[in-house]
Amino acid sequence: MRRKLAAGNWKMNGTRASLAEVQAIAKAHPAAQSDLLLCLPATLLSLAADQLSGTSVILGAQDCHSEPSGAHTGDLSAAMLVEAGARAVIVGHSERRENHEESSELVRAKARAANEAGLMSVICLGESLAQREAANTLDIIAGQLSASVPDTATGENTVIAYEPIWAIGTGMTATTAQIGEVHDFIRARLERRFGAGVGLSTRILYGGSVKPANAAEIFAVSNVDGALVGGASLTQADFTPIVTALDAAPEN
Ligand code: PEP
Repeated sequence: MRRKLAAGNWKMNGTRASLAEVQAIAKAHPAAQSDLLLCLPATLLSLAADQLSGTSVILGAQDCHSEPSGAHTGDLSAAMLVEAGARAVIVGHSERRENHEESSELVRAKARAANEAGLMSVICLGESLAQREAANTLDIIAGQLSASVPDTATGENTVIAYEPIWAIGTGMTATTAQIGEVHDFIRARLERRFGAGVGLSTRILYGGSVKPANAAEIFAVSNVDGALVGGASLTQADFTPIVTALDAAPEN
C-alpha cells in the first residue's frame, strides 16, 4: 500500500542557523513509520545533505527549471539539485503559479525534468477562493491534474499535493468533506488516466494550514496519504506532532 508522507515546505525561510531545527526534526524521528521530506531553500541543501545522511529524513528542493542547462539566470536545474543532495522537488506550488505566472504545461515540463534527473516530484494543485465559491473546484483540479502531471508519472516518482490556495498560510483549513471530495476525485482521475497500478500507488497529500491541532482529523480522510506543511514544518515542536498523528492514522 502507499507509504504515508509528511512533507515540509520551508519556502523562503531558513539560514545556516536553522540547520539546528533540521537536525532536531531528524533526531525526533529516527524510525518514523511515515516517510519524512523536508523541502529546504536551495542555499541549505548541501549543508543539510551532510546533516541528514544516515537519517530517515529525505531532502527536497522547492522548484527546478524544466531545462537541464542553459541561459536561465537565477534558475537551478534538477541535476544541480541532485548534486546538492536533493531527492525530491516541489513543482507547481501556487505561490510559483501566481508569483511567477507558471502554467500547468510548464509545471509538467518541470516534473518531467525532475523525474529524468532522478528526483521525485511533488506536484501541487489547488483552486482559489473565487473558483471554489463559483463551484468550479473539481473542474479546476481536473484541468491542473491532466496538464501538470507528465505521462511518465509513477507511484515512485510522483506525489500529488492538493492545496486549496485560500487555505495556504491563512489559518483557514478546508473541511474534511471538502478535502475528501477532492482527494477521491484526484484518485479516480489518476486511476482513469494511468490505470490501477499508478493510480492506486501515487500518494496524494493535503496542504493548507495543517497544524498539530487539526492533523489527526485530516489524516483520517479518505485518500489523504499525508500532508505538505508550510509554517508548521519550520520547527520540530510543531512538525513532530503532525508526524506522530500521521504515523497513527488509519490506512485510507
Ligand atoms: C504550503 O506551503 O504548501 C502550505 C501548505 O503552507 P501552510 O501549511 O503554511 O498553509
